[in-house]
Amino acid sequence: MPEKFDVLIIGAGPAGMSTALKLASSGLKIAIFDKAVFPREKTCGDGLTLDVINQLSDVSESLNKAFKLFPKKLESNEAMLFSPDFSKIRIPFHYKQESKPLYTCRRIDFDHLMFQQIKEHENITVFENCKAQKVEFEESRVLLTANEMLFEGSIIVGADGANSMLIRQMKLKRIQKENQSVGLTTYYRGISPLNHNNPIEIYFLKDILPGYLWIFHLPDGKSNVGVGMPASDIIKQKINLKKKFEDLLASEPFRSRFSEATRESDVKGHTLPSEHSKRTISGTRFLLTGDAAALIDPFTGEGVGSAIRSGRVAAEHILACFKVRDFSANYNKKYDNEIYRRLLSEYKMNHTIQKLCRYPWLLNYIFSSVDKYPELEKKLNLAFLKLQSNTVESKIIFVYKTLAIFSTHRLFVSIFRKRRT
Ligand SMILES: Cc1cc2nc3c(=O)[nH]c(=O)nc-3n(C[C@H](O)[C@H](O)[C@H](O)COP(=O)(O)OP(=O)(O)OC[C@H]3O[C@@H](n4cnc5c(N)ncnc54)[C@H](O)[C@@H]3O)c2cc1C
Repeated sequence: MPEKFDVLIIGAGPAGMSTALKLASSGLKIAIFDKAVFPREKTCGDGLTLDVINQLSDVSESLNKAFKLFPKKLESNEAMLFSPDFSKIRIPFHYKQESKPLYTCRRIDFDHLMFQQIKEHENITVFENCKAQKVEFEESRVLLTANEMLFEGSIIVGADGANSMLIRQMKLKRIQKENQSVGLTTYYRGISPLNHNNPIEIYFLKDILPGYLWIFHLPDGKSNVGVGMPASDIIKQKINLKKKFEDLLASEPFRSRFSEATRESDVKGHTLPSEHSKRTISGTRFLLTGDAAALIDPFTGEGVGSAIRSGRVAAEHILACFKVRDFSANYNKKYDNEIYRRLLSEYKMNHTIQKLCRYPWLLNYIFSSVDKYPELEKKLNLAFLKLQSNTVESKIIFVYKTLAIFSTHRLFVSIFRKRRT
């Protein structure tokens, strides 16, 4: 006989745990399964944007309070972006005179903080070290086999990350290579931040465009150093990303910067699924969230914010399903629509911006021109803070206009030069 629950959730990452926490007060009986034992590592840049911080209280006030008091996080008050010729843009994290810091926090710690929160609720049963193996759909229920045990629910949430078993089982369209990036990361000890604001550092280097290399400093003297690049560019340019990463770290300015630092872990890699067009992320009695739904920002590689958002929206949708007793594919389309209403236009735009970042000259030009355009700095700040609503639209329009002006100007300059010579 299967063990009975209302909601089954595969995966205790930010997406799955947000669904569970948001449903905690609903009275529904929830089971969440993870193949790992917590605390567990997750290959990530360990950057938590304002978008993540802003959502914590929407997921759970207790989680929000716990994060505020959490000692294993570090505040960052600015971003430093470097163009291929090392021109620099500094973006302070301020909005309307108020400081809006981002945080770095190792995922092993952040996810464990969330994990401790889900364990506090009586209606949430956590199955660690429990791998989801098989899902079967029947007229009135969904059955999950995990660690050879059988579980029953009215609906199942696939929050099982980039290699979702639910996608494989449902024979849903796999995420195409052009909608995936590859990220590599490692930890160092002894790299000092560039100033007292503890900037997050992002380097658009010629050899890895349209990707970038990052250095994010962590609380205990460690730094997360990584590189990310679209899979299609890696294939097209026949790049061995791991070798390229090592070569970059062994060249200036990183060689001198890292000379006193020690590497504390192997280089680890993972895919980043990011769709910039609509795909099916639900069906009869199932919803996909986070990386399983390919919701990573195609340009920045941020996925924790959208994992939490999709987890929250999934929970709200599940409550509606129980209210009207409708778990059909047709009804669940509302979930897809709600997710894409919030994310799609921004992701489409970021995909376009990523394409433009293939041109080192354009980046060099924009970076070296920021001083002349104070408005640009202001808008970049809003873009970084991911401030929602109309500021996102103004950001999009502004970035579009800026890139259009710069490209046209550059084109004129090059035509003019050709005529002169
Ligand atoms: C190199 C790299 C750097 C990144 N840097 C950042 C960053 O700085 N900031 C940011 O916001 N995002 C970043 N991301 C993206 C971010 O890590 C993901 O978007 C985020 O973790 C997605 O959360 P999730 O809950 O959907 O999936 P995950 O966090 O992947 O969680 C999925 C969970 O499911 C479990 N699971 C998988 N299969 C099964 C199964 N069959 N049965 C049971 N359990 C299962 C796993 O053990 C895991 O705990 C980065 C990603 C990479 C690869």
